[in-house]
Amino acid sequence: MNNSEVARVFQDIADLLELKGETLFKIRAYQKAVRSIEQLPVGLEQLRQEGKLRQIPGIGEAIEKKIVELLATGRLKYYEDLRSEFPAGIVSLLQVPGVGPKTAMRLSTELGIGSLEELEAAIVDGRVEGLYRLGEKTAENILHHLRSMRTKEQRLPIGTALPLAEEIMIALQERSQIRHLTPAGSLRRFRETIGDIDLMGTADDAETVIEAFTKLAQVREVLAKGSTKASVVTHRDLQVDLRVVEHDAFGSLLQYFTGSKQHNITLRERGQRQGLKLSEYGITTLQNGRLETYATEEGFYNRLGLQLIPPELREGQHEIERAAEHSMPQLVELSDLKGDLHVHTDWSDGHDSIEAMAMAASNLGYQYLAVTDHSRSLGIAHGLNEERLRAQMSEIRRLNERLNNIQILSGIEVDIRADGSLDFPDELLGELDVVIAAIHSSLSQRQDRMTQRVLRAIENPNVDIIAHPTCRLLGQREPIALDLEIIFRAAAQTGMALEINCMPDRLDLRDIHIFRARDLGVRLALGTDAHSTEHLKYMRFGVGIARRGWCEAKHLLNSMPAEELLASLGQQENKRI
Ligand SMILES: [Zn+2]
Ligand SMILES: [Zn+2]
Repeated sequence: MNNSEVARVFQDIADLLELKGETLFKIRAYQKAVRSIEQLPVGLEQLRQEGKLRQIPGIGEAIEKKIVELLATGRLKYYEDLRSEFPAGIVSLLQVPGVGPKTAMRLSTELGIGSLEELEAAIVDGRVEGLYRLGEKTAENILHHLRSMRTKEQRLPIGTALPLAEEIMIALQERSQIRHLTPAGSLRRFRETIGDIDLMGTADDAETVIEAFTKLAQVREVLAKGSTKASVVTHRDLQVDLRVVEHDAFGSLLQYFTGSKQHNITLRERGQRQGLKLSEYGITTLQNGRLETYATEEGFYNRLGLQLIPPELREGQHEIERAAEHSMPQLVELSDLKGDLHVHTDWSDGHDSIEAMAMAASNLGYQYLAVTDHSRSLGIAHGLNEERLRAQMSEIRRLNERLNNIQILSGIEVDIRADGSLDFPDELLGELDVVIAAIHSSLSQRQDRMTQRVLRAIENPNVDIIAHPTCRLLGQREPIALDLEIIFRAAAQTGMALEINCMPDRLDLRDIHIFRARDLGVRLALGTDAHSTEHLKYMRFGVGIARRGWCEAKHLLNSMPAEELLASLGQQENKRI
């Protein structure tokens, strides 16, 4: 059994225990084990042989025994006994968002449903809404989730794929003489989700590099292996392809395998008009059949009369025209950013203290950090009431007197209530340096109502930034129904900034929206939404997505020094009053 199969069994056990009404403590123990196993860079079998299973976080004696049994026999008696207590197929129903243990039980016992296909059929023919106290709306909701589950592409979010690729790249660099090791494909273009990971590099002796690659501890299975390329599957079920090429041709190969398809097609057509044929090996002049190879991508693009195009823009949109006019934008870089404008601390649902967050931000080279904990309506996140917010403001003043390297800005992530009013009175908001407003509840409002709700927040002169504007969660939750064109135009008019939330499962606004907002003159702000010091590093994901949206430093509030930022936020208030 591989890691994902073992994790799957523990996930089922957690679900079954929930059905059984077991204590949260017991359920969480299995959920924790699932998460740890999914994150493991090496195989469980290897850890078992080395006697290291107990070193995995969340694996105690009881779960260790179960892993050993699963690895040895491919079965687990405890799991089989537990499963026999419930109707078959019930666990699959729990995978649908909106179906809790009680509903799953009723679907199974009252309607005899044992699979997702049967569930869909029962909703369509009206049997599910006929269940006592369930109703049409719930049935409709379940159907919606069911269908979006099925159409969901089997792709990894970049927040998961990039660290995995980096881990493999570091391991390969330690164990071989590979040079210029670079990801290609959608990972290099920084798409929000990634299929396979493609890696490329150069070496004097390609074969030994390939050999080292297929022997990495992360590798579960070798799918294909040649003298210059190999494909493997990792313990985390991810396909990784490596290609080792001649140094002289590295530029054209990297270009070819970075894509996108549309970009390369448009580029080939351009080449044809110039009497040139493009390929992964280089550029052939059709007249004399001579092939020129390129060590760098810049040489390749220049031969076509183009500026080098940053990978994030290679989507076959407007980038080739711009490169031909030599007016490529100077895209924002991580080093352009002077601060983070959205973080939480242990005053609400964050993990670390204000001071710890400030020190970590200072270590990243920032000049300022906006502390924006949740407001009172968000009870589950320990939202601050007025009294605690004032106490936090004094604490921040005290810290600012003591700390030299960083300026902490007092802020709040104030809830936009269902009717568009804010969770705090205007006078209080007016005292803060940075006010971000966000929606966290009543997410299913109709588009006209939702748009009015956000517009009301945009028109409030005390608000500076609208956080995670569409509230989508990648692969988990669809965006709220919002007329973004209206929102962008209003934001441009009032000077309201919209956030690019850097959390890897949010990335909200997304690339195409950023492009449009920026085009209409909307100010943008990067915020990590960090709930711990570690999360501050998510800034790079926001920067990647901002680059895909053609953002330059000047489009982002975070590129301003603190004084300029505060003055600019103040000005915008005056402008609107
Ligand atoms: Zn939020
Ligand atoms: Zn937040």
